[in-house]
Amino acid sequence: MRVYELANQLGVKSKDVLLLLEELGVGGKTASSTVPPVYLGQIRARFGGEEEAAEAEAPSPAPEEKKPVAEKKPEEAAAAVAGQPETPSAPVEEEAAEGGEERVKLKAPFTAVDFAAALDTDAENIVKAAADLGESIEENAVVPTELALLIGEQWGYAVQIEEPEVVEEPAEPAEEEAPAEAAAVEEAVAEAAEEAEAPAPPPLKVVPRRTAPPDAPPRPPVVTVLGHVDHGKTTLLDAIRESNVVEQEPGAITQHIGAYQIEVKGKPLTFIDTPGHEAFTAMRARGAQVTDIAVLVVAADDGVMPQTLEAVDHAQAAGVPIVVAINKIDRAPAGSDAVKQRLTEKGLVPEEWGGETIYVQMSALEKTGIGDLLDMIVLMSEMREFRAERDKPAEGVVLEGELDKRRGSVATLLVQEGVLRRGDSLVAGPVAGKVRAMMDDRGNRLKEAGPSTAVQVMGLSEVPEASELFRVVESDRTARTLATEERESQREAELRAAGPTSMLELSQLFAEGGAKILNLVLKADAQGTAEAISAALSPIGNEEVGLDILHSGVGDVSESDISLAAATKPTIVIGFQVSADAQARRLAADESIEIRRYEVIYDLLEDVRSTLSGMLEAKMEEVVIGQAEVRALFQSSRLGTIAGCYVLEGRIARGGTARVRRGGEVVFEGRIGSMRHLQDDVSEVAQGFECGIVLEDFNDVQVGDIIECVEERELRRAVL
Ligand code: GDP
Repeated sequence: MRVYELANQLGVKSKDVLLLLEELGVGGKTASSTVPPVYLGQIRARFGGEEEAAEAEAPSPAPEEKKPVAEKKPEEAAAAVAGQPETPSAPVEEEAAEGGEERVKLKAPFTAVDFAAALDTDAENIVKAAADLGESIEENAVVPTELALLIGEQWGYAVQIEEPEVVEEPAEPAEEEAPAEAAAVEEAVAEAAEEAEAPAPPPLKVVPRRTAPPDAPPRPPVVTVLGHVDHGKTTLLDAIRESNVVEQEPGAITQHIGAYQIEVKGKPLTFIDTPGHEAFTAMRARGAQVTDIAVLVVAADDGVMPQTLEAVDHAQAAGVPIVVAINKIDRAPAGSDAVKQRLTEKGLVPEEWGGETIYVQMSALEKTGIGDLLDMIVLMSEMREFRAERDKPAEGVVLEGELDKRRGSVATLLVQEGVLRRGDSLVAGPVAGKVRAMMDDRGNRLKEAGPSTAVQVMGLSEVPEASELFRVVESDRTARTLATEERESQREAELRAAGPTSMLELSQLFAEGGAKILNLVLKADAQGTAEAISAALSPIGNEEVGLDILHSGVGDVSESDISLAAATKPTIVIGFQVSADAQARRLAADESIEIRRYEVIYDLLEDVRSTLSGMLEAKMEEVVIGQAEVRALFQSSRLGTIAGCYVLEGRIARGGTARVRRGGEVVFEGRIGSMRHLQDDVSEVAQGFECGIVLEDFNDVQVGDIIECVEERELRRAVL
C-alpha cells in the first residue's frame, strides 16, 4: 500500500504518514512510495485506526474511503480576461466531461507548468497541492506520474498519462512501460539468478593524487592491506613487520603508530598499519590519497566475501593498483582458483590468464609466501616509479591522533612531499603547532622525515583528526592564523551541512561542461537483487547525465559505504530492502550523504531517473502562444500609439515578447507596455477577443500588422 493510499484511508495527510515513517526510521519516502507492510499496524494504531491494524493490505482504497473529489477547482489562470484561454502545447489535450469528471490527457514526462496548463491553473497551485501531499516539487521539474494522478483526482479530473516511447539505446531491448520494466526486474530478482552475469567492473575513478616532476627523487610506495574480516590482514601486517626487524636505538621500543617502514633488498616500503578500507576511504573522503598499492587479502578457505568485493570497489574507485594475496594456503591449498575466478569477474584477471593482476599464494600464519608478496610489491613500485620532491616545505596526512597523558597531543603524520624537520611550524586543519620531537615506529628519535615516512610528532596544540591534511608553514603565527580560519570555515560548513544533500547542492558539485555523472553505492538484501537492480539501472542516462555504480553489495548500509560516497561526491547511497546502521547514519549526517531506502524496485528506478532528470541543464525554447491582427490605430497623448487588435489565435499575454510582422517581415520585437480589454487593464486576452495594445518603444505600428506573442519556455527534459 502506498503512503497516499494509507493517508487517504486514515483521513490524514500523506505528510503526516511520512513524518511518522521517518520517526520509525524509514526515511527517504514520498507520497507514492510503498509503506513497508511491517509498519502498517503501527501507523494505523498511531492515527487511531487500531481496529484496522489486523486488516489485510488492500491494493487500493475502496471508492467510499477516498477523499471527497473536487474540493475546489483551481482558479482560472487569466481571471482578468473573459473567455476561455486555450490550453497550449501539443501533448496536452482536454476532452469533454464524462460522468462528471473532466478528462485530461498528458504525455509523460511533463513539468508542473505543463500540468497546470492542462488543468487550466497556475503552476503555483500544483506545487502547493504537491506540498499538501508531502511532496516537494519545482515548477519546472518533472512531476511524478502518480503525484499527478493524485492531484487530478483531488481536483475532480480524470488524468490519463501516456508514457513516452523510448527512442534511444538501440542496443538495449525495447523498454516497456515503467511498471512492467520494474516487474521484469522483480522477476529477475525472484529467480535469484545465481548464473546471472556479474556486473561489469566499475570503471576506474582516479582521484587527483600528488604529482611530482619526473626528475624528483624516488620515494617508497605506501601500501595498504585490505580484505574481509578474519582473512588474515593483521597477521600479515605483523608478519611483515617481524620479518624485517631493522636496527633500533638501544632501549627503543617498537610501537604501533599507524604505519611502519621496512626494507626489502635495500628498498624501503611503507605499510599503513591499520587494516581495512574504512581508514582508507576516510582518508579519501578528505581528499587525501595515501595509498599507492593495495594488498587484497583473501583467505583461500573462505574465498571472496562481501567485504573483499567492497575492498576491490574502494581501491578501484581510488585508482589504486591491487595485488591479491591468497592467504591461509596452509589450510586450503586448492582454494586459489575459485578466488581467481571470482575476482576475474571484478576485472582482476591473473597474469597467468592473460591479465595484469599479480596473485601471490601465502600463509601469514606459517610465514610462507610473504617474501614473494614483498618482491611483487617492490616490482610494482619500480614499474610505477613513485616520486616526490624533497626540496620544499613538508606536506602530508594525519594518520592518527591521540591525547597522551604524559606527552600531550601525539599525532602520526605521513609525510608525502618535502622533508619534515624538528622545529618546523605546521598546520593540520584547525590545529596548529611546532614539531618539538619526532619518532619513527621503532622508537628512534628523528631530526627529519622525508616523503612516504610516517612519524609520531609531539608539539601540536590539540589532537588533529585522522585524515586531515597537514603542511609546514613559515612561522608559528601563520600556523595559528590558518588554523583559526580553518576552524571557522569548518563551523560554517557544519551549519550548512545540517540537511541531506539537496538537488541544488548536488548540481553545484558538478563541474561545468562534460557529462554529469551521479555515483551510486548500492546495498541490497541479496546478491541476485543487487545484480538485477544494477542491470536495471545501467541503461539509465543519456549523453549529458549518467550513472556510475561505484559499489554494489549485500547487507545494511555501513559506515564504509558512506565513506566511499563521501570520497566520491556527488554520490547517493541506495539501500534496497535493507537499513542503515547507526554509525552509517551518523557519518552520513556529518558528511551530508543522502541515504535513500526503497522497498519497491519501481520506486528506486523512478527516483534515480527523476534525480538524473533534475541534473539536466535547463533548455529554453521559444513558443508563439498567440497572434493578433492590428485592425485600427488610436493616438493617446499619454501612451502613444494604441493598436486596436483582434486575437486571431491562441492568446496574447502581457508578460510575453511581442513580435510585429508586416508582410512576412519582422519589423519590431520588444515588450508589450500595456494591454486593455474594454476599459480594463488585462494581463491576457484570448482568441476571438479584441484588445488595445501599446508596444514599448514602438509607435510605428500599422493597420494589418500581425502581433505575435512569444513566450520562452523551459523544455521538458527527462532521462528515460
Ligand atoms: P583480520 O581480521 O583480517 O585482521 O584477520 P586476522 O589477522 O586477525 O586473522 C584471523 C584469524 O585467522 C586468526 O585466528 C589468525 O591466526 C588466522 N590466520 C591468519 N592467517 C592465517 C593463515 O595463513 N593460515 C591459517 N591457518 N590461519 C591464519
